[in-house]
Amino acid sequence: MLSYRHAFHAGNHADVLKHYVLSLVLDYFNQKATPYSVVDTHAGAGLYALDSEFAQKNVEFETGIARLITAKNLPQSLQKFVQIIQSFNIENKINFYPDIYPGSPKIIEHFLRPSDKLRLFELHPNDHQLLANNFLNKNRQTIVTLQDGFNGLKACLPPISKRGIVLIDPPYEIKDDYQRVVDCIKDSLSRFATGTYCIWYPLLQRPEPALMVEKLIEISAKWMQVELSIQMPSMNGFGMHGSGMFIINPPYILPALLDNTLPVLTKILELDGSSSSSIVSKVI
Ligand code: SAM
Repeated sequence: MLSYRHAFHAGNHADVLKHYVLSLVLDYFNQKATPYSVVDTHAGAGLYALDSEFAQKNVEFETGIARLITAKNLPQSLQKFVQIIQSFNIENKINFYPDIYPGSPKIIEHFLRPSDKLRLFELHPNDHQLLANNFLNKNRQTIVTLQDGFNGLKACLPPISKRGIVLIDPPYEIKDDYQRVVDCIKDSLSRFATGTYCIWYPLLQRPEPALMVEKLIEISAKWMQVELSIQMPSMNGFGMHGSGMFIINPPYILPALLDNTLPVLTKILELDGSSSSSIVSKVI
């Protein structure tokens, strides 16, 4: 049942959008000294070797992070994101090309201050083991659990610090995931209404992602929807042509920040001359 392995997709266009937006949210949280907690309900392995058999199968990172990292004249916030990715790789390489791509747990860890906390859930036994190995000796700050993240989240909310970010990034291989996201957000908002929730979803030619977003809009007071499509939807109706992030209680500066940089990122990741991006928000 758990067939999805993120190692095949690490560093692709969807990871770049998700991790860039996540890094902007984390950067904003670091502007205040008050500690915060982060929960990553679907954490994956945490760190990926791009020369592994998995990553090399479809070399998805070549049209994702490799494009961004080799792009010139990036706006400051994209440049900062690139520097984070570079910090996981060998320094001072000429014609820098990434060997390692950090997953969401390692990107989050990059931002944490000593008083901040991280809770990671991963259900695949192999990826859970890899994730646990990537966070050895971090027990005081980070807890890694082999558990269903939708269920595990309940006990994490509200965080003691009353400041928190939740990343929900399911594989959506099982159709139930779409409704589980909505149910999980309903429950989470009843426990922790002021939390910042970042939900990743694929752009597909089937109704589930858009229906999920509609339901999320109904139950959220302040939200923002960011979408980036890298190509024309396929003629046969299959495949992912882009991805989106739905953010509940986004930092107030996020729409303005992305207004400036999303079009640049979209051009960099474009595959066939018909890329597009959009930002819709209700933050008042
Ligand atoms: N968040 C990661 C990142 O950005 O680097 C990638 C996560 S990947 C898209 C989804 C992960 O969720 C997979 O590793 C999969 O094994 C795991 N998974 C699937 N269902 C789960 C569940 N109900 N609870 C926790 N993990 C789950």
